Amino acid sequence: MNHETLPAQGPVDANVSLLACPFCGGEAEYATESVRSGYGEYESTEKYHVVQCKACHSNGRRYHQKHLIHFTIHTVADFRNNPLLRAKVEDEYEAYCQQTKQLSVDAWNKRANAGIQARP
Ligand SMILES: [Zn+2]
Repeated sequence: MNHETLPAQGPVDANVSLLACPFCGGEAEYATESVRSGYGEYESTEKYHVVQCKACHSNGRRYHQKHLIHFTIHTVADFRNNPLLRAKVEDEYEAYCQQTKQLSVDAWNKRANAGIQARP
């Protein structure tokens, strides 16, 4: 298994607001990770969304992003026969990818003690 972390791709989402690292207080960043597994024709690259601390490298939960072919029930032949279907599914897939990214952000920002007041 080969593991590499890449800087986040695509436009930075202005809505993404990350809390400071709960361990060291450092600044967090969103990233995508590509993990290669298998050999030869069975090799595949799996993509994960994760938020990590720039200072101590702690990270939140990783969320796997399915490949388009596993996301849709439609076949390549379906797309060839219906270009509009392809555009529709690509839009749905893009929304799914954004949701998966958001899950990784929400996981990072989740705090067990949020809203709990310290006792006087
Ligand atoms: Zn940290």
